[in-house]
Amino acid sequence: MINVDKLNKSFGSLHVLKDIDFTVRESDVVCLIGASGSGKSTLLRCLNFLEIKDNGTITIADEVINPKTHDLNKVRQRVGMVFQHFNLFPHKTVIENVIEAPTQLKKLSKEEALRHGKELLQKVGLADKENVYPSKLSGGQKQRVAIARALAMKPEIMLFDEPTSALDPELVGEVLSTMKELAEEGMTMVVVTHEMGFAKEVADWVVYMHDGRIVEVGKPDDLFNHPKEKRTQEFLNAVL
Ligand code: ATP
Ligand code: MG
Repeated sequence: MINVDKLNKSFGSLHVLKDIDFTVRESDVVCLIGASGSGKSTLLRCLNFLEIKDNGTITIADEVINPKTHDLNKVRQRVGMVFQHFNLFPHKTVIENVIEAPTQLKKLSKEEALRHGKELLQKVGLADKENVYPSKLSGGQKQRVAIARALAMKPEIMLFDEPTSALDPELVGEVLSTMKELAEEGMTMVVVTHEMGFAKEVADWVVYMHDGRIVEVGKPDDLFNHPKEKRTQEFLNAVL
């Protein structure tokens, strides 16, 4: 579904992603872990072309994406993204937030967008909030709206960048369980997270990044319990 080959990215003289090779198969959940500054967000943003790689290839659903010739807005519609800060439109209601992109970008009829939008709100447990403004929601509810909004574009892949890091601890669970349901339905997902419990339980693969490189990839049980690399072990000792 996603294939990354020898991806490099620098910001000025700072070499942030170094020869990244990375594969995500359809319906896989891949959790990206690693210290602050290791390049997790930059990798995710490259997958969505919010950052443009310096070199290397990114293939999405068997199509090599060339940022110079592809319509990146179209590519971004296929790869949904949820951020740490929810970035909802404050002056729009919940349902208006959810149907904004499909009606504007996909040119869906308002009726169809509303029907699908309501289904999605139901799915994230917020059917009763459709006419509420974001300021009236808790952080966990806002993040679930953000997930519904990303799903409204019917993406093939969902990227999550620390979706629970900005939440009060008691609100983390509701967002993780929404994500877990999505995973169980077969959504292909790449999740940057510090929630090691989620990674252990839901991930098919865990990828440990350090200093712009992928140091180790493993099944959760192997990577958490029997890491092969010393740096992975040190990181896990520090966070677990
Ligand atoms: P965190 O866990 O803190 O979110 P991260 O693993 O997501 O960290 P990135 O945000 O990918 O790390 O950043 C990797 C490096 O690239 C850092 O040194 C960061 O300062 C730098 N960086 C990221 N974005 C930019 C940018 N737009 N311009 C310059 N430097 C950047
Ligand atoms: Mg980050």
